[in-house]
Amino acid sequence: MEKKNLDWENMGFSYIQTDKRYVANYKDGKWDDGALIDDPNIVMNECAGVLQYAQTVFEGMKAYTTEDGHIVTFRPDLNASRMVDSAKRLEMPPFPEDRFVDAVAQVVKANAAYVPPYGSGATLYIRPYMFGINPVIGVKPADEYQFRIFATPVGPYFKGGAKPITICVSDFDRAAPHGTGHIKAGLNYAMSLHAIVTAHANGFDENMYLDSATRTKVEETGGANFIFVTKDNKVVTPHSNTILPSITRRSIMYVAEHYLGLEVEERDVYFDEVKDFAECGLCGTAAVISPVGKIVNHGEEICFPSGMEKMGPVTQKLYDTLTGIQMGHIEAPEGWIKVIE
Ligand SMILES: *Cc1c(COP(=O)(O)O)cnc(C)c1O
Repeated sequence: MEKKNLDWENMGFSYIQTDKRYVANYKDGKWDDGALIDDPNIVMNECAGVLQYAQTVFEGMKAYTTEDGHIVTFRPDLNASRMVDSAKRLEMPPFPEDRFVDAVAQVVKANAAYVPPYGSGATLYIRPYMFGINPVIGVKPADEYQFRIFATPVGPYFKGGAKPITICVSDFDRAAPHGTGHIKAGLNYAMSLHAIVTAHANGFDENMYLDSATRTKVEETGGANFIFVTKDNKVVTPHSNTILPSITRRSIMYVAEHYLGLEVEERDVYFDEVKDFAECGLCGTAAVISPVGKIVNHGEEICFPSGMEKMGPVTQKLYDTLTGIQMGHIEAPEGWIKVIE
């Protein structure tokens, strides 16, 4: 298969149309067989449930080329099960998990020419999503849904290495107790846009959200979970029912414990103790880990000893080990890497 002639090294993170996408429709209480199609556009009624009441959930994952030339995805079964949880919370019919994993493979195979070559740092980003598509004007769940997956090549998240970022404690809340913070729903992102635009206008890269009930505990950013490293090399991540369970963060905690022999803790993390940590990072599919160098809380600065030039040493080991597993240099735990071709 011949690769597309794209500038893999200098690609950004924006949508590039690829050849095929997967579509399945839910109607009369069941999902149809689904198929790969060519048309990237969706025609729907003006009153579609998704347009009026934001009934939509999504996932995000990557396919990439390993050193030995295979195209693989990372733990797609976890994306499939997380999307089931998201769908149920918004009263949508779950898309079967085995069909989800199979449809991801179909989309990657059909767009293999867009999977960036090994070593370019670029990847094929995969976006599964579903939404209510029939007209809904009285407030209730839609009766008909569409599940889709498209793929788009994206560049390396950090060009020229991962530089630590500066984040601020947000005055806005991300998730209410017993709300929807734990699911991957468009609605959580819609309401975070004002907060992130405000943070950027104030010169910060990201927001740190605190728990909205007490504003004393660390939750997450708009799209990534936190890990912290203590001065005696324990890896700590916030436990909360209102953060999105990041697959990257769960994988990093496993790697910390089982590959690096570090102590790990998932527990309440009070903002007051953040100043005592040695390292901080943000975990998500896009960047794997973004190091955080500084956190600003209304003018008060917390500067981590790891500084603003490079990742802290433990964060770097976690990053190297997890990306080594993903790229096939380090043996993966059973079931983590799904070879597509
Ligand atoms: C997607 C997402 C993450 C990261 O999850 P991964 O599975 O690691 O990509 C973290 N927080 C939020 C709010 C998210 O939507």
